[in-house]
Amino acid sequence: MTKFIFVTGGVVSGIGKGITAASIGRMLKDRGLTVFMQKFDPYLNIDPGTMSPYQHGEVFVTKDGAETDLDLGHYERFIDEELTKRASITTGKVYSKVINKERRGDYNGQTVQVIPHITDEIKNAVYKAAKESKADIVITEIGGTVGDIESLPFLESIRQIHSENEQDDVLFVHTVLVPQIPGSDELKTKPTQHSFKELMSNGIKTDIIIIRSDGEITDSIKKKISLFCDVPVDAIVQSKNVELIYEVPLVFKDQGLDKYILKKLNLDNEIISQNSWENMVERFKSADKNLNIGLVGKYTELHDAYLSVIQALFDAGYENGAKIDIKWINAEELEDEKNVNEVFKDLDGIIVPGGFGSRGTDGMVLSSKYARENNIPFFGICYGMQVVLIDLARNVLGFKGANSTEIDPDTKYPIIDLLENQEEIDEIGGTLRLGNYECSLQEGSKARSLYNEEKVLERHRHRYEFNNDYKEDLEKAGVVFSGINEELNLVEIVELKEHKHFIACQFHPEFKSRPNRIHPLFDGFVKSCINK
Ligand code: GLN
Repeated sequence: MTKFIFVTGGVVSGIGKGITAASIGRMLKDRGLTVFMQKFDPYLNIDPGTMSPYQHGEVFVTKDGAETDLDLGHYERFIDEELTKRASITTGKVYSKVINKERRGDYNGQTVQVIPHITDEIKNAVYKAAKESKADIVITEIGGTVGDIESLPFLESIRQIHSENEQDDVLFVHTVLVPQIPGSDELKTKPTQHSFKELMSNGIKTDIIIIRSDGEITDSIKKKISLFCDVPVDAIVQSKNVELIYEVPLVFKDQGLDKYILKKLNLDNEIISQNSWENMVERFKSADKNLNIGLVGKYTELHDAYLSVIQALFDAGYENGAKIDIKWINAEELEDEKNVNEVFKDLDGIIVPGGFGSRGTDGMVLSSKYARENNIPFFGICYGMQVVLIDLARNVLGFKGANSTEIDPDTKYPIIDLLENQEEIDEIGGTLRLGNYECSLQEGSKARSLYNEEKVLERHRHRYEFNNDYKEDLEKAGVVFSGINEELNLVEIVELKEHKHFIACQFHPEFKSRPNRIHPLFDGFVKSCINK
C-alpha cells in the first residue's frame, strides 16, 4: 500500500519547493522507506524539451528518455533513485492523452470535461507511479503557486485522491514565504494566511507548513500561523537559508519534521541510514582547497541552464576536499587566441557542457584547443565532445572549415553529422536520441580506469553524432575512442593520449552524479584539476 505526500507552493514561486520535496524524500529514505517522486508542471508544453533554457533552465533527462523539469535532478540527487517518465507530468501531456482518447472514441459519446476526464488522467498519473514503482511513499510536487489558473485541475485531483484514500495515507505539505519588511525587519504572516485560505477554497487543508524566510521564525510566529492556519505548531517548520542545499533535510530533521510526517502517516520506521547523509554534509563543509574551473557556454548568465553540471562539479569538488569557483565564460566572447590566453589564465580546469545551435561554437572550439595545447584538464560533455572533434579536425588535421552539419550543413568536412534515422524526422519534440544507451569502455583507456567497469549505461540528449568516416584520421592524430556504443557503432567517449586529462563524452554524466556517489568522470576531472 503506497502513501502519498503532495507538496504545494504558496505566496511566491522560487522558494525551493523542489528542494523541500526532495528533502522530505531523503528523510523518509533515511527511515528505510522506499520513495518515488514526481512533478506536475501546469504548462501546456508536452515537456520542457522544446523550451529555451531562458524559459526553463536545464532539461533533465531520465533513464527512459523523458525530458523533464530540473527539479527531477534535485529529486534524484537527494533520494539517490533513478526516476522514470512517470515522474514528470505536464498539462500538455494530460490534455493530449485525453484528446487522443476522445478522437479514438474511448469516451462512448460522453461530453469530455475537465472534471472528471482531465482530473482522472492526473489521478492516474499518481496511482500509476505508485503501482509501477511499488514505493512506500510517492511524493508529488505541484509546480506553480496556489491561485494560478493552470494549477486548478491538479489541485482538484489531489483533493480527490485525499477523499478516495484513508486519512493517514495522504499528506499535504504547503511551502510559503514569510517576508520581512525592509526597515522594521518585521516578519509578516498575512501572505501565509491568504495562501492557506486559497488552498482551503480548493478543498485542501494542509497538514504541514514549510516556511522560507530571511528572519528567524520564532515560536510566537509559529503560534500565530498555527492559530490562523489550523495546523499544530509541530507542523510548522522553517526552511532556513543554508550554505549547502544538502543541509535542508538535516534542518528539517532538527525540527522534528520526519517524526511528524511518520506520525501523520501512521508509520513507525526508525532511522536506519546511520547518519551517512550527515557525515557527507560535514565532509563537504570541511573542504578547504580552492579550484577555479572555467565553464564555457552560451547561457553563462543563466546558471540554471547548467544546473546538474555545476551541481555534479561542486559535489565532486567537495568530495575531494575542494570548493569550486566557477568562472563563467561566454563562448561568444572568445574571439582569438590572444583573448583566449587572457581569459583562461589561472584556471585549474575547463569544462564545455552541452548546447545547441551555432552561437558560441567557435569560442568552444578555441577552448578545446587551448586546453589541449596547454595541458589543462578538460572535460567536454555532449556538444562539448562534438566541438573537441571539430577542433582536432580543424587544427590538428588541417581540415579547414570542418564542422557539425548542425552548424554548417554544407561543410566539406562533416565531422559531426546526422544519422540516417534522424534525417527523416521533422518534428522537434521528443525526437532527439534520449535516455540510456550502453557504452563499452576500451581497455587501457583513462575512461576505463576511472569507471573501473567494462560497460556502463549513460543518459543522452542529442541529435548529431560523430561521423565514423573520420575515425582513422583522428586516431592518427592521437585521439583514443575510448567509449563506443557497439550496437549502433557510435562514439561515446574520446580522450587524448598525450595529455594530463582530456576527456569528452557524447552523453550527459551529470544526470547520474549524486552527492553521495560522485560520477567517475566528474571525480576524475576534479582530481586531475587538483593535481595540476
Ligand atoms: N547540439 C548537439 C546535438 O544535437 C549537442 C546536444 C547537446 O549538447 N545536448 O547533437
